[in-house]
Amino acid sequence: MICNNILEAMGHTPLIRLNRMVPDDAAEILVKFEGLNVGGSIKTRTAYNMIRKAEKEGLLHPDSIIVEPTSGNQGIGLALVGAVRGYQTIIIMPDSVSEERRKLVRHYGAEVKLVHDDGNIGKCIAQCAAIADRMKAENPKVFVPQQFENPANPAIQRDGTGMEIIEAANKPIHGFCSGIGTGGTITGIGETLKKYNPGIEIWAVEPENAAILSGGSIGTHLQMGIGDGIIPAILNQNIYNNICIINDEDAIKTSQRLAREEGIMCGISSGTNVAAAIQLAKKLGKGKTVVTILPDTAERYFSTPLFDE
Ligand code: PMP
Repeated sequence: MICNNILEAMGHTPLIRLNRMVPDDAAEILVKFEGLNVGGSIKTRTAYNMIRKAEKEGLLHPDSIIVEPTSGNQGIGLALVGAVRGYQTIIIMPDSVSEERRKLVRHYGAEVKLVHDDGNIGKCIAQCAAIADRMKAENPKVFVPQQFENPANPAIQRDGTGMEIIEAANKPIHGFCSGIGTGGTITGIGETLKKYNPGIEIWAVEPENAAILSGGSIGTHLQMGIGDGIIPAILNQNIYNNICIINDEDAIKTSQRLAREEGIMCGISSGTNVAAAIQLAKKLGKGKTVVTILPDTAERYFSTPLFDE
């Protein structure tokens, strides 16, 4: 099959059973490896869906400028979609995100505006959003997808990623867990998995230093892409029955183990998700099936402690 453009190659990432990392008496763990997706992360899906919807609604024109405040992968995804569709793209991001992410955005031909993160990531993301709002107010050509509010974000996780998991697993799924950035992943995939198994146990996963759903305070942490310090509008807070807190060390160690014991090169929040999935698999026990997401590839973390010797 010939793809007419790179966007047609999106999705249908593999669902992979973990082997050496899973204790004998635990449920099996299946991971959906989005590091193999177009653009190297799950967020190309949401970027494409938000742009496709805006095009259908007549909100985008050939001279439109896509502007989005984002902590990383959504920016890379939008830069990629902007390149294919021919839109100028400007990404506003905290200066605390890994250098690789900025370089990737620029490599796709988009512009990066950096905002200083003084240790309060929630405040920094709010500043990024305020800059995007101002640009939109000043220039009618500016389109801001607003991933934290846009229903096209959870919709593609529900109808795309979630359905891919149902079809690939082809058996009941008893547990699902995911970290929360915009909440699109846990909301969309969670809603689909719950539709197919209403008794499923779903865990929201939070970084220890940004456990906002658990009433904690916001500090800096290394689990980039989740724990942004806000409760997003699109997050379905009724979709999870439990919250699991994972610290940076556990997230990084688990991501390193995924490479060393399973041969899977994924990012830090993938380690967060799998650390929680192991706890969930132990709780549910042998004979049950737990699914989680590996949102991106390790190759955008060379400059972070993930690659410390
Ligand atoms: N992990 C990484 C690396 C991400 O970039 C994101 C997106 N912010 C997430 C997890 C969380 O995904 P979502 O926005 O769907 O909650």
